[in-house]
Amino acid sequence: MYDAIVVGGGPAGITATTWLARYRRSVLLVDAGQQRNRWVDSSHGYFSRDPASPGELLAAASEQLAAYPYASRRAGSVSSARVSGDAFVVTVDGVEESALRLILATGVEDAFPQVEGFFDHYGAGVFHCPSCDGYEAEGRNVVVLGWNEYVASFALNLLDWAASVTIVTDGRSFPGDGSDLATLASFGVRVIEDVCESFVGPRGGLRAVRLRTHGEVPCELAFFTVAHRPRGGLAELLGVTLSDEGCVLVDENGETNVPGVYAAGDVTPGMQLIQVAAAEGAVAGISAAQSLRGTRGAPSSPEPGPDPDLVAPSE
Ligand SMILES: Cc1cc2nc3c(=O)[nH]c(=O)nc-3n(C[C@H](O)[C@H](O)[C@H](O)COP(=O)(O)OP(=O)(O)OC[C@H]3O[C@@H](n4cnc5c(N)ncnc54)[C@H](O)[C@@H]3O)c2cc1C
Repeated sequence: MYDAIVVGGGPAGITATTWLARYRRSVLLVDAGQQRNRWVDSSHGYFSRDPASPGELLAAASEQLAAYPYASRRAGSVSSARVSGDAFVVTVDGVEESALRLILATGVEDAFPQVEGFFDHYGAGVFHCPSCDGYEAEGRNVVVLGWNEYVASFALNLLDWAASVTIVTDGRSFPGDGSDLATLASFGVRVIEDVCESFVGPRGGLRAVRLRTHGEVPCELAFFTVAHRPRGGLAELLGVTLSDEGCVLVDENGETNVPGVYAAGDVTPGMQLIQVAAAEGAVAGISAAQSLRGTRGAPSSPEPGPDPDLVAPSE
């Protein structure tokens, strides 16, 4: 029995685990190692680390976490979760573990365009998030791969930085009407209903995208808007309320509608940034730890201090 189990070892989960450990709560971090930005060479905008390699950020945070004796870490996947009395039981690669608090920091799963050599370029010349990587598009020619209802606004958004934007719909029909096309055209955005077959150039040196019938479209960066899905399966099993988009809904303490179950990071609604995920992890971790104040908790945790609620606040 642990005081808390944290599912997911990205910025949200590692930060939540760190704070639980700082409150001397025994905490198990379980991580399947599929961090969303594992493809990326440089992430941007993190306080005092801009730019930074996401892999190096994770390695540093993991090393710092390992210094806390109250935290343990396991590589693996949590396949199920259930409520058992006042505790939670999760199954980690066939082994059951239980805890008084559960933090879900499971992130989201992205859908990718089906383009040959996609992962040779993803995270270096091909991105999905204008906030994260739009600045690097400044003065450059950009191709947007996309066919969902957001593709037109996504393309216009990139004109905050880019010199030119061309939409490629992967051979599907453009999902807007004539007036959308006219608006795009008025800003010089071309729409090509063709299949993108491959990227031209080495990783970090994109020169063009090659289309099936329209030849090559020169560009230095490509962005895509396809879809992403919050990994909310465990939350669903626990009866946690999800948004229409499948995000795990939490209150200002990071707690869900199921008492004792918290969530943080990309799996919750809001901006999807490392800094935001880490901040939400801190909120969830500290809130979960403080909710255990005065309780004995797991046998491996030290004797807790007295319950602060024993003392009435002075006038
Ligand atoms: C291409 C790209 C570029 C980006 N650039 C930037 C940037 O420049 N700046 C910025 O701030 N942000 C950037 N981001 C966003 C940033 O990566 C995310 O906001 C951040 O990683 C979210 O952290 P998280 O902890 O919520 O989720 P993640 O980092 O995705 O971690 C979730 C973890 O949970 C694990 N997991 C899920 N389910 C289970 C389970 N059942 N059992 C065990 N483990 C599980 C996963 O394997 C994964 O390791 C970028 C993202 C992408 C994809």
